[in-house]
Amino acid sequence: MSNSYVLVINSGSSSLKFAVIDSKNGEALVTGLGECFGLPEAVLGWKYQGKKTEEAIAAPDNHHQHAINRIVGLMESLGFTKDLVAVGHRIVHGGEKFTSTVRINDEVLTEIENLSDLAPLHNPAGAKGIRAAMQAFPSLPQFAVFDTAFHQTMPQKAFTGAIAHELYEKYGIRRYGFHGTSHYFVSREAAKMLNKSIDESNFITVHLGNGASVCAIRDGKSVDTSMGFTPLAGLMMGTRSGDLDPGIIEFLLKKGWTQEEVFNTLNKKSGFLGVSGLTSDARGILEAMESGHAGAKLAFEVFTYRVAKYIGSYLIPLDSLDAIIFTGGIGENSLDIRREILTNLKLLGFVEDVEGNEAARFGNAGIIGKSELLNAVAMVIPTNEEFVIAQQSVALL
Ligand code: ADP
Repeated sequence: MSNSYVLVINSGSSSLKFAVIDSKNGEALVTGLGECFGLPEAVLGWKYQGKKTEEAIAAPDNHHQHAINRIVGLMESLGFTKDLVAVGHRIVHGGEKFTSTVRINDEVLTEIENLSDLAPLHNPAGAKGIRAAMQAFPSLPQFAVFDTAFHQTMPQKAFTGAIAHELYEKYGIRRYGFHGTSHYFVSREAAKMLNKSIDESNFITVHLGNGASVCAIRDGKSVDTSMGFTPLAGLMMGTRSGDLDPGIIEFLLKKGWTQEEVFNTLNKKSGFLGVSGLTSDARGILEAMESGHAGAKLAFEVFTYRVAKYIGSYLIPLDSLDAIIFTGGIGENSLDIRREILTNLKLLGFVEDVEGNEAARFGNAGIIGKSELLNAVAMVIPTNEEFVIAQQSVALL
């Protein structure tokens, strides 16, 4: 039987991640990253069979196209070309237009570009990746998988902001939510692990990476999520503030801050980095805490408290709860952060399973606690967004 590999591309404004995924089992055969696009030091690196290779991209401009052309050569030299059946693109914003994965044609590409108003950094970069891949792989079908699509099932009361309704009608201002592919994947995996039908499963999924979001899933569908109109909303993140009083923005502007300074601070100098004054990286926070760093301890406490508050509030849209699911770099690995979140949830009856919590790390899924009160478990499921992109692309072939 022939293989069914998908080239998964995640194109950013100055970088491009790629992977060749076996759509049957999710195995990543090659993974790679192009960085510093637009600069003279642009590079493309990849990992194949444990060996890392890095090459400079020796071209003055259009580093996306050059990187993808080089990937074509790589596919040929590794002998993957005959097994590649599709190219799957991760696209950040699908607005209200895209509620599931779609095959890309000219109309879809134009729609993605038209949505750039909602995701000015991400969608143009995604479109650039699509154009480059269409040129480099003219015979392969291409698919777009949207970060927002899974959340399009949210009811109007969950996605509507408490602001003038005309802002929604005029500009499309509403909650969209992101990380949808991850929330989708871990909820499906959890249902399998718990031997439940996904259509009858109620979960709170907690994706904690550099970006972080929580999602309430009722009968397998997203009914609320913490990121909003942009990925700045919701939880505290590596460098993003998450929710804050919008009055602070007016206050800082009146103090003479420029608009750019305010939003640069909220996006790039807040979260773990801002509160600790030290680092955006959770591992660095945990290490510094051990050596008594007060800012790191505060960052840990604010982060875990806020995650627990969101989890508590996401019981509201659910009738019952089967599991809280942790994922993302922090959710999959940090014993201490998960423990503190469960401790914060004691009123909901959650008790840590100490051995389970220690075992569910570094790629291992498992149960890390439970609540007799809610008849629910807390668990860890490593996410695999690339696998979803590969599977959904192949499903549409
Ligand atoms: P991204 O959102 O960029 O995909 P990841 O999901 O890879 O990010 O998560 C990155 C975060 O995971 C970082 O804060 C990192 O410190 C944290 N992380 C990774 N491994 C561990 C670990 N063993 N313990 C604690 N935190 C970890």
